[in-house]
Amino acid sequence: MSEPIILDGKLSSRELRESLKPRCAALREKGVVPRIEAIVAAQDPASLAYVNMKQKQAEWVGIESGAFMVTEDVSQSEVMDKVAQYNADPRVHGVLIQHPLPSHIDEDAVLESLGAAKDVDGITSASLGRLTAGLPGFRCATPLGIIKLIERYELDLTGKNAIVIGRSNILGKPMALMLLEKNATVTIAHSRTQNLADLCRNADVLVAAVGRPEMVRGDWVKPGAIVIDAGYNKVEGRSHDVGDCHYEECAAKASHITPVPGGVGPMTVASLLANTVEAAELSLL
Ligand code: NAP
Repeated sequence: MSEPIILDGKLSSRELRESLKPRCAALREKGVVPRIEAIVAAQDPASLAYVNMKQKQAEWVGIESGAFMVTEDVSQSEVMDKVAQYNADPRVHGVLIQHPLPSHIDEDAVLESLGAAKDVDGITSASLGRLTAGLPGFRCATPLGIIKLIERYELDLTGKNAIVIGRSNILGKPMALMLLEKNATVTIAHSRTQNLADLCRNADVLVAAVGRPEMVRGDWVKPGAIVIDAGYNKVEGRSHDVGDCHYEECAAKASHITPVPGGVGPMTVASLLANTVEAAELSLL
């Protein structure tokens, strides 16, 4: 096989973020300052780092941001009140509920109290229901980022066999539905799936969303397949995050592949920001 085309999430996300700048500027001219609020576990360094990075990128495109820190002494009702306040505040266009919240908080209840109009991460059951029904609404940021990457490289998925490994509500399931919207024929695999490698070998598009470093090996990949690796895993002794696919082996078989890091990750953040700008634009209608 010749070298695969790298689906460059870093470059594509920068382009996407650039395209949001004039839209934010136009909103500000109309008196609307796009704004996203985060609800985040105060004692979780990974969550704090992630929210901080999202806020920096938001600021860069012209979106204001804030955060509500959930400490151990913040109660369920205080978090719910905060969400209710955001739901009612016309200056807030998007709310990010950063998983995981502290264990004393019922995260599902918090999530479900968020109005779909402000669910820019697209993870409430209302947003997922709208996706399932093919209705307009905010799409889940990670699979949306993957779709935007596929569109950026003008890949036509019509009639292609696609497999999504993973069935989480934030990634695998919505990914499968979005591939279906692109007219692919979709298989969803999970931990109980049998003959996974054989199923993968039949796939023109393979999306790995598992959380197991380098689980997908080169001999699972159909020659010429599009390989999308959503995984990022910390592995001792490795200097950067490792994907769910064995990169070198899979790249030797694929026509297109996402690197880790620099593939799906940056597209997730850019998509969250794109949804926030859209929410601000919709607030004018
Ligand atoms: P998750 O909720 O843990 O779901 C993992 C899925 O993988 C489950 O559906 C599970 O099946 C399936 N699975 C586990 N072991 C398997 C196996 N041996 N064979 C086949 N399927 C298996 O994880 P997630 O939140 O969807 O995240 C998945 C990966 O994506 C992680 O590496 C995560 O870090 C990454 N991620 C990346 C981004 C990004 O922005 N780039 C965002 C979110 C997540 P069951 O349902 O049967 O248990």
